[in-house]
Amino acid sequence: MDVLTCGHVAHKGNGRLCRHLLGEGSDLEDRVWHLTGTGLDRDVVCTACDTSDEPLDLVEACEGCVERAQEDDANVIAIRGAPGVGVRDEPIRTDTWRTPLPHEVIDVAAVPDSPATWLLLTPDRVLRWNADTGEVDREARYELATHSFEVWAEREPRTRVHAADGGRYVAVGVDYGRFGKVLDLDTGSVTMELDRGEYHQNTVPFPLAFVSTEDGLRLVHGTAWNRLDVSDPATGELLTRRDFVSVGNERPEHYSGDFQGRLHLSRTGRYLGLDGWAWSPAGLPRVFDLHRWLRVNVWESEDGPSLLTLALRWYLWETPMCWTDDELFVVWGIGPDDEIIVPGVRVFDPLTGHEVRAFAGPTGSGALFSAGSALYSADPGGLTRWDLSTGERTGTVTGFVPTHHHPASRELVELRDGAMVRWRLPG
Ligand SMILES: [Zn+2]
Ligand SMILES: [Zn+2]
Repeated sequence: MDVLTCGHVAHKGNGRLCRHLLGEGSDLEDRVWHLTGTGLDRDVVCTACDTSDEPLDLVEACEGCVERAQEDDANVIAIRGAPGVGVRDEPIRTDTWRTPLPHEVIDVAAVPDSPATWLLLTPDRVLRWNADTGEVDREARYELATHSFEVWAEREPRTRVHAADGGRYVAVGVDYGRFGKVLDLDTGSVTMELDRGEYHQNTVPFPLAFVSTEDGLRLVHGTAWNRLDVSDPATGELLTRRDFVSVGNERPEHYSGDFQGRLHLSRTGRYLGLDGWAWSPAGLPRVFDLHRWLRVNVWESEDGPSLLTLALRWYLWETPMCWTDDELFVVWGIGPDDEIIVPGVRVFDPLTGHEVRAFAGPTGSGALFSAGSALYSADPGGLTRWDLSTGERTGTVTGFVPTHHHPASRELVELRDGAMVRWRLPG
């Protein structure tokens, strides 16, 4: 090993830097990524070099210096060039089939552990429907309280349905709205009233997720802009009782300034992915350990040791996210804000919060799904399949843009013209 320009005797990093990004204090310097066209490989330069008429003077530096300079942080003020997308075409089934829906629906949700079973949401009812037999075997009416508020950034309020294992309990909540309910489809009764208040609730979907635990079915739900709770959906019993204690004008211990939005439950139910934001505003995709919250530390969702911030993106949240079968969390978008962003995904280990890989390609226009060793992105032209470990594009299904995944049926589905258009995952 040689002494590199940065002054370190170490392995050479993947990418080059301008001299002004070497050395102490340079980490505060604004910087520009120059993508080289090979994957996400990039050279990084300071703004003076970026705008200079001279050819770029790039030097090699050690892994540590290069990685620090390349970090996806708030100092990146522009991204030039284009990433490379690897392609390795492999056979992919392209056949879909249509199952007519029995009603016009405003949302659907897969009953995660029951093949072919879906909950269908109409403006005043929830139906449990079997997509294979066409049978509707449960139906319950609901009515949600309304309140008037300003629509923010085109986020129109939208009522959504959330399904639990077993298909008996259902949560209905208004994204960007305030209220919701939990229903028991066996009795048709309301078991819980949901209310998360109205402090900037128009900026985020209603946080709701059912999770099956050894102790029974649980519902994670937003109860204030910065607070999640866990309740027993059958009885409404609150299981995360905790009180913030203020001393004088100090912020109470465990206080969180995070707006809680859409929740993403991992496959095993161990981790919860949070898609929220905090002032200024910055999107903060996060993860934490639900087991610890339920068993060890009632403050885990505010400031527990397992709560990890994966990225900080100015003005950007509610991007596609999903969990893999191996309990890795995939977050769309590579870059520091809503305008300076490379279409692609970052894959995080929820135990460490570290990015284990990233690759360009998924457009972020639609949902992300994962099954086996593949990632699927719903893109404008159709479904794209990616190899999760290499980032290569391995196939496309033209014209099929799914919005939901049924894990027990191993299907992705799109709602189109009064029908569920279905596509079977391999395996
Ligand atoms: Zn420079
Ligand atoms: Zn170095």
